[in-house]
Amino acid sequence: MTKTSNRQILLATRPNGMARLSDFDIVERDIPTPKEGEVLLRNMLISMDPYQRNLMGNGSSELPPMDLGTPMSGPTVAVVEESNNPDFSKGDFVQTWTGWQDYAVSDGSDLRKLDPDAAPLSTALSVLGHTGLTAWVGMTKYLDDKPGGTFVVSAAAGSVGSMIAQMAKLRGHRVVGIAGGPAKCASLTDEIGVDAAIDYKADDFIAQLAAAVPDGVDRFFDNVGDYMFEAVMPHFNLNAQAVICGTIAGYSDTELPERRDHLPLLLNLILYRFVEVRGFSILDHLGSYPDFLAEAAPWVAEGKIKYSEEFIDDFEKIPETFLTLFEGGNTGKLIARLG
Ligand code: NDP
Repeated sequence: MTKTSNRQILLATRPNGMARLSDFDIVERDIPTPKEGEVLLRNMLISMDPYQRNLMGNGSSELPPMDLGTPMSGPTVAVVEESNNPDFSKGDFVQTWTGWQDYAVSDGSDLRKLDPDAAPLSTALSVLGHTGLTAWVGMTKYLDDKPGGTFVVSAAAGSVGSMIAQMAKLRGHRVVGIAGGPAKCASLTDEIGVDAAIDYKADDFIAQLAAAVPDGVDRFFDNVGDYMFEAVMPHFNLNAQAVICGTIAGYSDTELPERRDHLPLLLNLILYRFVEVRGFSILDHLGSYPDFLAEAAPWVAEGKIKYSEEFIDDFEKIPETFLTLFEGGNTGKLIARLG
């Protein structure tokens, strides 16, 4: 498909708290021209991810914010439209990070070639892409592989969380998934196969959680942070391990919430129950793609790991669709399909 201009979604203003539609600007610019050694890429699939709120600034993240007036950054699947680089040919499919726009140029160093016959291209943004890699890295590099015990996952119906829940089942844990609302909880038990699903939006969330972990919690993979970690923390067993993958509940916080200080409890858990709490950034593990794919691609092909993707076909709807991530509006990996 030939387009005559490059649509871009720019960061117009830094949010004050929750991001809003007015924080984005949609513009049309010239299609860039690749120089010697570069390729021209046309984005086909664009990923919407919670961490993009961190890039917008004025939130809880310590990541440096992106510049105002630049296209929102993020993972994409693109096709090479023109190549001045001997390593790439016109028509090659690649996974890259060209963000919320139609076209971009690259010197090739940030491109991962994709084989469209090996798996659907969209999976390079979901279960076999950065979200799958995040789950795999968190599980294999930050938690020990002792089987058994109770494994709790928050945002368990999401892209990272559902993969973690299924990997934890494959590893022989008893898995408790936490998600928002009865429909997502039903999908956790019926499709993902967790042993118990807890609705954090229910009035009796704390009681439901306590009932679901009668033997305590041995592993906690937290995608939510904030009140979620506080709710699970009292149940940690001796030598429990917690991985802080994301703190989506607090990404828009400009200040720490004021309420009961849980730090003394956390310190006691570390001192007396030898609880380990670790965080990680997937950006430090992009070199692990080959190892990850070697293990995860067969799981997906054999149906041992199920995944869900949700597509939108309207470029201009990317900002409003992205904002639904912070209300649990998505039921799978959010991807914009540009055709
Ligand atoms: P998801 O597909 O899980 O979508 C986000 C989900 O988070 C929503 O659907 C919603 O589910 C849940 N959520 C949003 N706000 C809240 C809240 N206040 N309380 C509880 N749940 C909430 O996104 P991803 O799988 O892409 O990402 C999951 C987490 O992993 C995020 O925190 C993300 O930032 C993090 N991440 C970290 C990486 C790293 O390098 N450490 C890399 C990639 C992702 P529900 O309907 O259940 O509320």
